Amino acid sequence: MEINVEVGNLTQWRGDGIAVNVFQNETLQGQAADVDRALGGEIQRALDSKEFSARYTIHSAFYSMGKLPAARVAIVGLGKREKFKLDRARRAAADGVKALRKLGAKKVALTIANQGLELTEVAQATAEGVVMGLFRFQRYYTEAANELWDDDFRNQIESATILVDDASQLTSVRAAVERGKILGEANNFARILANEPSNHMTPLLLAEQARVMAEKNGLEFYVIDRAQAEKFGMGAFLGVAQGSVNPPAMIVMRYWGDPDSKEGGLGLIGKGITFDSGGISLKPSEGMENMKGDMSGGAATIAAMQAIAQLKPKINVTGIVAAAENMPGGNAFKPGDILHAMNGKTIEINNTDAEGRLVLADAVAYATKELKLNPVLDAATLTGAIVVALGIYRTGVFSNDDALAETLYEIGEKTGEKNWQMPMDDEYRLSLRSEWADLKNSGGRAGGAITGAWFIRSFVESGAKWAHLDIAGAAGIGEAKERGYINKWGTGTPTRTFVEFALQMANEK
Ligand SMILES: [Zn+2]
Repeated sequence: MEINVEVGNLTQWRGDGIAVNVFQNETLQGQAADVDRALGGEIQRALDSKEFSARYTIHSAFYSMGKLPAARVAIVGLGKREKFKLDRARRAAADGVKALRKLGAKKVALTIANQGLELTEVAQATAEGVVMGLFRFQRYYTEAANELWDDDFRNQIESATILVDDASQLTSVRAAVERGKILGEANNFARILANEPSNHMTPLLLAEQARVMAEKNGLEFYVIDRAQAEKFGMGAFLGVAQGSVNPPAMIVMRYWGDPDSKEGGLGLIGKGITFDSGGISLKPSEGMENMKGDMSGGAATIAAMQAIAQLKPKINVTGIVAAAENMPGGNAFKPGDILHAMNGKTIEINNTDAEGRLVLADAVAYATKELKLNPVLDAATLTGAIVVALGIYRTGVFSNDDALAETLYEIGEKTGEKNWQMPMDDEYRLSLRSEWADLKNSGGRAGGAITGAWFIRSFVESGAKWAHLDIAGAAGIGEAKERGYINKWGTGTPTRTFVEFALQMANEK
């Protein structure tokens, strides 16, 4: 889909749909007032009569009955002006274009909803909202779907044009929209990888997707396969993979934006369990289909590397995805087994369903000990406990550095991928004490997200700063409800947070 930026007014737009942004409890202004006049005061009348409230998330679409060149109009509520923030612009853009798509529009126009924020920031968010909002995962629909189901999934928006008032804004807004498009497309790439079923997304197929992306975008790329992982002593990673006929892959993508730097640079690490049956500690069958998305952290890592390669910050970034399938095959690892991780620590397995932290243990040790990356961020659909604690709207952040956690909080408020720091008191670590090895892999139900984080932290080497993002709720697998630019199923979190972190880190150098 193409996104253009032009100077113009919605009342003159000659496409087939326009989206109009409306603030709550006030008289219409700017282009919204122009559209209202062309429609004979219908929008203001609807507002005055409370037929349309303009509350945030409320929107409506209708035909313009020949009163405007565009046949369809969507009005999008922004809520109260004083409560406006970046994510409202992102969602409004998505709501508007989706409402127009539903009415059959193909070429649409919208304006940038703003109140008191930097225009370029809002322009970028608007483009992100359009690209992410229009995402649909339909690659397994055939012609038969059209015949079988009466749904609105056939119409596609071909182009969206963002109209600005002033020619002096064009250059900066176009650059911002281009950034937004790169981020939106990366986010959608993460969603595709997450939504793909596990028979089409084994560890090797995930590695293949990452290789294609890396080659297209000029990234260094390699895969640590089973034999090489054995040489590195990645016994935790290999232990998880041994019950599956699908071999594991430690996927490594390297972006060299600052080749003269002596430092390893930023490390982004994703859990890439392409299917999690729980292994011998088998999960209940209800909802198990959602475990195709247990590689959402890995998907976001691959997608973030794509956007970073395209946005070119002056910093080195390495993305690592620990991809494996957790299956109860005849060779599967078992409760009571003791595994040897890459950093020399031994792990007693008391629950084979706590496998994400095992593959991450070796990935984090490889990143910090072997590649000397610092700081290191990992994203993982790690625990059900974080869903209990924070629901689906915030990611749990665990860190050995409070300033790093604070940065991630602030980035989340900007990207809409909201974060919340969780405690890491030493006492929680005691739950990981094993009778038989250095650590056991599960600390039980109480504080399960925290003990999971402590487990991973035990594999951070070389004093690296580290943060762990438990996205089990926010990744949306099975839980996400359609709202604005969030679609059903995989949300793509934390793709844009990873990218924004890299951009900020480059700016601070
Ligand atoms: Zn599991």
